[in-house]
Amino acid sequence: MTIKKLDLLQPTTLAEACGLLQEHADEASLIAGGTALLIMLRERVYQPAYLIDLTTVPGLDGITHEAGVGLRLGALATHRAVELSPLVRERLPVLAETYRQVGNVRVRHAATVGGNLAHGDYRLDPPAPLIALGAAARIVGPDGERRVPLEEFFLGLYATALEPGEILAEVLVPDPAPRTHAAYLKYTSLSAMDWPCLGVAAVAALAADGTFDDVRVVLTSVASTPVLVQGASERARGQRVSEGLLAELGALAAEQVDPSPDIRGSEWYKREMARVFVGRAVRAALSRPALASSRS
Ligand SMILES: Cc1cc2nc3c(=O)[nH]c(=O)nc-3n(C[C@H](O)[C@H](O)[C@H](O)COP(=O)(O)OP(=O)(O)OC[C@H]3O[C@@H](n4cnc5c(N)ncnc54)[C@H](O)[C@@H]3O)c2cc1C
Repeated sequence: MTIKKLDLLQPTTLAEACGLLQEHADEASLIAGGTALLIMLRERVYQPAYLIDLTTVPGLDGITHEAGVGLRLGALATHRAVELSPLVRERLPVLAETYRQVGNVRVRHAATVGGNLAHGDYRLDPPAPLIALGAAARIVGPDGERRVPLEEFFLGLYATALEPGEILAEVLVPDPAPRTHAAYLKYTSLSAMDWPCLGVAAVAALAADGTFDDVRVVLTSVASTPVLVQGASERARGQRVSEGLLAELGALAAEQVDPSPDIRGSEWYKREMARVFVGRAVRAALSRPALASSRS
């Protein structure tokens, strides 16, 4: 088998990286942590002539908080950096909890926030809590900059809203409303460090009287894109948590997922796990302290 020659291009600005992507069009691929891309190259799924190394662009790995914007996760921040960040642990511990559960520590040391989302694999953990928290992607491209809510970012298996020549620069996670509680539950049916059989993020905002004001539940690994359960908030608003309500939310999720059978479980099994884990995730969220809110 012939191995194609591969040139590594090392831009030092985002504009230069976008220019190189445009110049080499279908022949080039961005590389960040390389944990997904190198496997695809090794398996010859994909054979670009150029790799554009994002790690030589400074300033893309920040983890900061800005009033009025929320938490800013640079595309090159590693999973391990998010997991260990005091700022993330203080403001959105659900994200530290999620990134801590991705693969193993070697993968998390290299894998980046941007590479994870851009990869578009249907089994990724981080998209579930990020979508549940209302996060958006800041995307830079030849025509300037745009923001895409992450709930609109995933278009299908390995397909995202990124257009040719575009780079995911940052993920923006808004400050939650007062009295918001969040959790991410990952269920693995093989080894503990495996990809999820399914994952469920629940973000619940309570009214002052303790009833639900808003509930966002997002499941991963049970359809070609993350599933934001439609109708959950409408069902829950004004109610207190109860077994009946959690069963209703579980039933809504089970109707909306579209799992594929694989070594982690049959279609039926994953649908039933979705039904069960939605209630557990909402309960887990409510058992955690309220998130820091700019308005609390
Ligand atoms: C052993 C193993 C176990 C894993 N387990 C899990 C798991 O349990 N849960 C989970 O969620 N994930 C898991 N993963 C996947 C892992 O999270 C991804 O491989 C990783 O997040 C990809 O990030 P990266 O920086 O390495 O991306 P790369 O491999 O560098 O790139 C991935 C893709 O994204 C593109 N890209 C990279 N950065 C950008 C950017 N900023 N803008 C636009 N496009 C970009 C690249 O061109 C490429 O197509 C696992 C991976 C491995 C190898």
